[in-house]
Amino acid sequence: MSSYDVIVIGAGPGGYVCAIRCAQLGMKVACVEGRETLGGTCLNVGCIPSKAMLHATHMLHEAEHNFATMGLKGKAPSVDFKQMLTYKEETIAQNTGGIEFLFKKNKVDWIKGWASIPEAGKVKVGDEVHEAKNIIIASGSEPSSLPGVEVDEKTVVTSTGALSLPKIPKKMVVIGAGVIGLELGSVYARMGAEVEVIEFLDAITPGMDAEIARQFQKMLTKQGLKFTLGAAVQGVSVKGSKATVTYKMRKDDSEHTMTADTVLVATGRKPYTEGLGLDALGVEMTERGQIKTDARYATNIKGIYAIGDTIAGPMLAHKAEDEGMAVAEGIAGQHPHVNYGVIPGVIYTHPEVANVGETEETLKEQGRKYKVGKFPFMGNARAKANFSGEGFVKILVDADTDRVLGAHIIGPMAGDLIHEICVAMEFGAAAEDLARTCHAHPTYSEAVREAALACGDGAIHA
Ligand code: FAD
Repeated sequence: MSSYDVIVIGAGPGGYVCAIRCAQLGMKVACVEGRETLGGTCLNVGCIPSKAMLHATHMLHEAEHNFATMGLKGKAPSVDFKQMLTYKEETIAQNTGGIEFLFKKNKVDWIKGWASIPEAGKVKVGDEVHEAKNIIIASGSEPSSLPGVEVDEKTVVTSTGALSLPKIPKKMVVIGAGVIGLELGSVYARMGAEVEVIEFLDAITPGMDAEIARQFQKMLTKQGLKFTLGAAVQGVSVKGSKATVTYKMRKDDSEHTMTADTVLVATGRKPYTEGLGLDALGVEMTERGQIKTDARYATNIKGIYAIGDTIAGPMLAHKAEDEGMAVAEGIAGQHPHVNYGVIPGVIYTHPEVANVGETEETLKEQGRKYKVGKFPFMGNARAKANFSGEGFVKILVDADTDRVLGAHIIGPMAGDLIHEICVAMEFGAAAEDLARTCHAHPTYSEAVREAALACGDGAIHA
């Protein structure tokens, strides 16, 4: 039996970051991971492989649509899908291998296998029981199921299956117009698949600023994705290599079907805590199956903490990482703080969509007076040169104080641009602070400055 200051269960972005931070703070730490490789959902079947596929297919799109205009001639690329999957696998391997290196460098023990917690202070992996003063659960999440839909990961797939299809489907139906469904839908649409998205609600990307969601849907429609909104999926039946989705339109209860080679079920994710023995331990859970924690990530059982996708909040890798650092620092006696009001969200389609803080809808709900500053990428020289003039930056500020309350960007590199606003919000900055900061020309970030100017006397290039 070995004993540790901290044992972390799960080596996703929450768990591995937490383990490294604990080691940096002088604790003896081990991280248990049941997968063959480190990095969790994010590195193995989530953020990283999806971004590799998005990058490859975006390059294809650029070659097909914009190369000739720029005077770049020659043989147009065709898709070698097997090689694209190899590239994706290599990208995963580089990243998961990187975490293994970091564990060695920081002297974090990787205990290979599936963990359970037989009692507080003990972690069982296989036949071995290890002692730990503190146990941190970072066991992540799994795809949610949908009644009447059986996933076989061949014809009816989750995001995991969609990242390893044997071939490009002719037709793909995506159930759920959230981030994962739209990212993977656009990957296959760019490779020629006919992609139809079925969504229960009347708008795509629930929770997103409504004006941005409408614009986003228009852009995706232009790229060939089709949408059926307000439709409740009743079930999926598979015959041979085809699947038929039956759905009812919520407005009139009329029933319809749609047949495809691949059905991607992307209706969200739920915490994964199976096999940990939390019931027997008496760990309190929420109605949604999340582990209940206090502000320092402690559960109701002394010495057991939980972070990342297993607890409340947005299911995002960077949120899990921040919690991983915070729980480690808290155990070390520090006073960390995660600001849940400033957690950016990004959709990595092309163009990208990014948001942080309040939306117009949440501000209206709060009855708060606000001003809007907007700037279109059509007025940004760099964006025009790079065929990226679609979209805009929208900044929401307090009407009296000019303090930045939120921002929504649809356009080139939106996922990077949003961080300027995150920093501004962390510092309690006003739009005027952003507007008075010199921005290099020609950059996309000038559009952020112009939107900030539009909160006051007006943008220059609009
Ligand atoms: P996970 O990453 O889920 O890691 C948990 C780990 O714990 C797993 O490796 C699992 O094997 C292990 N584990 C579970 N139980 C045990 C046990 N009993 N014993 C040992 N090991 C165990 N988020 C973003 O921020 N940006 C993105 O672009 C993005 N893209 C995504 C794309 C897809 C297709 C998917 C599915 C998700 C995406 N996400 C993205 C979400 C992101 O992957 C998760 O929010 C993030 O991985 C959560 O981190 P975590 O550490 O909580 O858990």
